[in-house]
Amino acid sequence: MADTSGSVPAIAGGVAALVAEAAARLDATGSGSPRLDAELLLGHVLGVDRIGVIAHPEAPVGAGARAQFAAEVARREAGEPVAYIRGFREFHGLAIATDPRALIPRPETELLVDAALAEVTARLAAPSRPAGAPAIRVADVGTGSGAIAIALLAALRARRMAEHVVVVAADVSADALQLARENAVGHGLADRLVFVEADLLPPVVDPRFAVVCANLPYVATAQLDGLARDLSFEPRTALDGGPDGLDLVRRLLDRLPDALTPDGVALLEIGADQGDAIVEAAAHQLPGWRCSVQADLAGLPRLARVGPRPGAAAGDRR
Ligand code: GLN
Repeated sequence: MADTSGSVPAIAGGVAALVAEAAARLDATGSGSPRLDAELLLGHVLGVDRIGVIAHPEAPVGAGARAQFAAEVARREAGEPVAYIRGFREFHGLAIATDPRALIPRPETELLVDAALAEVTARLAAPSRPAGAPAIRVADVGTGSGAIAIALLAALRARRMAEHVVVVAADVSADALQLARENAVGHGLADRLVFVEADLLPPVVDPRFAVVCANLPYVATAQLDGLARDLSFEPRTALDGGPDGLDLVRRLLDRLPDALTPDGVALLEIGADQGDAIVEAAAHQLPGWRCSVQADLAGLPRLARVGPRPGAAAGDRR
C-alpha cells in the first residue's frame, strides 16, 4: 500500500470507512469478530497484512479492490470462515493453506505442537541416544491440512534438527492428504514427511512411533448442529466424534500398544469437557499406562498425554 501519511486527505470510502461499514454488516449477520474479519479481508484484497490496514486508515481503495472486498464480505456474511476466503490461516507462525478439504487449524492446537516439539527435542538431546541413531519417528494421526506435522517440522528445522526426524502424516481423507501435501511442498518440508491414507494408523506400524500426535474429531454429534454456523463449512468428518465425542480417540487408544515405542507418548487434543472422560478411557483401555491432562492458555483441559509407564514392556495391556 502507498504511504499516505502526510498530505493525502481522508477520502470517503478509504480503508477506515470500508472496514467500519463491513464490520457493521458482519456484526449484524452474526460474526463473532466483525472488525477483525473486516481487517483481515481488506488486507487480503489489498495484499497487505492486518497491520497495514490498521496503520493506513486514510488510504484510498480503488474500484477493483472495493468490488473484490464487497464480494469477500458477502461470503463472510453467509458464514464462510475467513480462513477459507483468504485461503490460509496463521498457525504456529506459519501460513497454512486452508480450504474445505480439511479443518481450519485452531490456535489451541499450537499447544500440541509445542508439546510434540518438547518430546522430540528431549529424545534427540538424550545422552543415551547414540550418534547415528535412526531418525525419531512421529505420527500425526488425522493430519487434515498437515498443520501439526508441518509446524513441528518447521520448528525442528529452525533448530537444525529436522533431519533426525521423520513424520508420518495419516488421514482417512484423500482430499485432506492432498492439501497436506500442498502445504508440505509450500513449506519445503515434503522430504521429511510420509503421507499415508489410513483410518487412524496403517494396520501394521513398524517401526513404532516415539511420538503420536492427534487432533482427531472430538465434538459430540448432538453438539455439532448447535455450534457456530461457520463450522458447517468445515468437513463434518473432521469434527464429529460420535455420541460423546470420543469415538475416534478411544479407537486410537486401542492402537497405541502396537504403535508406540516403550518410551513413547501420545499427545491427544481433547475438548474442554473431556478431561475426566479421557483419563477414564485410558485407565479402562490401557491399564498400567499413564494419562495426564494439560490445560490450554484459557485454563481448559486440552491436551492428554498417554503412554506406557517407564520400565513397563511396550505392548503390555489388560
Ligand atoms: N476445537 C474444535 C472446535 O471446537 C474442534 C476440533 C476437533 O474436533 N478436533 O471447533
